[in-house]
Amino acid sequence: MKTIENVDRTAPPSAGWQILVAAAAVWWIAILAAPVFDVSAIYSMFSIICHQMADRSWHLAGHVLPVCIRCTSIYAGFALALVTRLPPHTGFLRIALAGMALEFVVARLGLDLEPLRALSGLGVGLASAAFVTAGVEQMRRRLWYRLRTRKASALEGAR
Ligand SMILES: [Zn+2]
Repeated sequence: MKTIENVDRTAPPSAGWQILVAAAAVWWIAILAAPVFDVSAIYSMFSIICHQMADRSWHLAGHVLPVCIRCTSIYAGFALALVTRLPPHTGFLRIALAGMALEFVVARLGLDLEPLRALSGLGVGLASAAFVTAGVEQMRRRLWYRLRTRKASALEGAR
């Protein structure tokens, strides 16, 4: 049975993977450019997805990053998993998500530690990238198929 976990890792990277690597590069350039060049538009964009509390975020060049430690760690893990083409593993994803949920609960109970937020975020980022890559590749293939069949039927109608 073909599952998401037994994909051929020796095959060249999919177009979906290439799209995600490009998107991750733009994402990271934005995260690093915001504090270095003090770009308020980038802070505004990331405010949609992150609380941006300064005391829960790392700083760069004297300015706070546009995303918190947890978000930064998720994106770091995601980018690292993409670059290394870490294979999908549902067990790892379950453990990473459970770890983040546990860390969240423990933080609410009073043990709110920066390294734990970073570690749980890193784990979720590492574990999720391969699944997101498979999803993006599947969407790309469906879109490509629709465009081709639409073009073929348009050519058929012209005859
Ligand atoms: Zn955040």
